[in-house]
Amino acid sequence: MRCPFCGHEDTQVKDSRPHEDGTAIRRRRICASCSQRFTTIERVQLRDLYVVKADGRRVPFERDKLARSIRVALRKRPVDEDRIDRIVNGLVRQLEASGETDIASRDIGKLVMDTLREVDIVAYIRFASVHWDFRETKDFAAILESIPVGPGEERPAAIRVPAADSGAAVASGYGPDGIKRR
Ligand SMILES: [Zn+2]
Repeated sequence: MRCPFCGHEDTQVKDSRPHEDGTAIRRRRICASCSQRFTTIERVQLRDLYVVKADGRRVPFERDKLARSIRVALRKRPVDEDRIDRIVNGLVRQLEASGETDIASRDIGKLVMDTLREVDIVAYIRFASVHWDFRETKDFAAILESIPVGPGEERPAAIRVPAADSGAAVASGYGPDGIKRR
């Protein structure tokens, strides 16, 4: 770290302590040349991610938006808030670790679906019915067939296959709001 006073390149760290709930580190430094003291704050710099939509539009990745869509899928399912936070964190880490700055919305959807399938099959179907374009309709029908249903419960039925990005998906019997349709 170059000294901001004299430009000397050798500065010593005198003290380091956690800053902002441990998400950053505050360091007191002293210049080896002019002995001026200054402070630096070091925080993790995550890469800025962009989502590339099906129509080619490129928009900044929004963690909150991802979290919202997952919360909608998991509404009233036996998955607590802590677990949802961990799921979202895990997904964001995976996206960041991909090494790409631009990520296709379809790839994000696939990643979320792969995760939700492990967490809760109903949430998976809800998410898939809203965000997936059902190119693999046959696979999806097989998934619906594989869902265990308890006594008195109704197996989610494929009602119709929505057009891509129609936003009106009801293929699983669940609306975009996560509420079961008849
Ligand atoms: Zn200096």
